[in-house]
Amino acid sequence: MSRPALKRNEESYHICGDVKDPTGISNKMGQQSSIDLTGSAIGHPEIRFDLGAETFVVTADVYLQDGELLVHLICPQCSTPEKANGLTIRASQKQMSYENELLSVEPFGCTWEIEGSLRRNFGLNRCTLRVAIDKNVARRA
Ligand SMILES: [Zn+2]
Repeated sequence: MSRPALKRNEESYHICGDVKDPTGISNKMGQQSSIDLTGSAIGHPEIRFDLGAETFVVTADVYLQDGELLVHLICPQCSTPEKANGLTIRASQKQMSYENELLSVEPFGCTWEIEGSLRRNFGLNRCTLRVAIDKNVARRA
């Protein structure tokens, strides 16, 4: 799928509502983001999530935005074929390092609520993913 070239004055996005996922990771609608995604990512490390019985591989996008390291990835636990739940982690909020395609991030949690058929009662509907990434391997933290 080809995208039209962006003009210089269109470098900053605020995405909400029914918009296409500007990362191109998915063709899903409605992902929220305020990242400048037109600046090219400095890397795309593949992160292996070892979540007990299940293992997922997620391609993260690493950006350098105004000198701040920023990671964008899809939560493997609560994303569904219908909806990709993106997470943005900033170096100002979490300690992280990215060298030689190896990403490490201190423990962080998913902020998405489980929706649709997975919705549970009693307020237990927040995604429980909480991991630390150590050299491209994410484990529960
Ligand atoms: Zn999640």
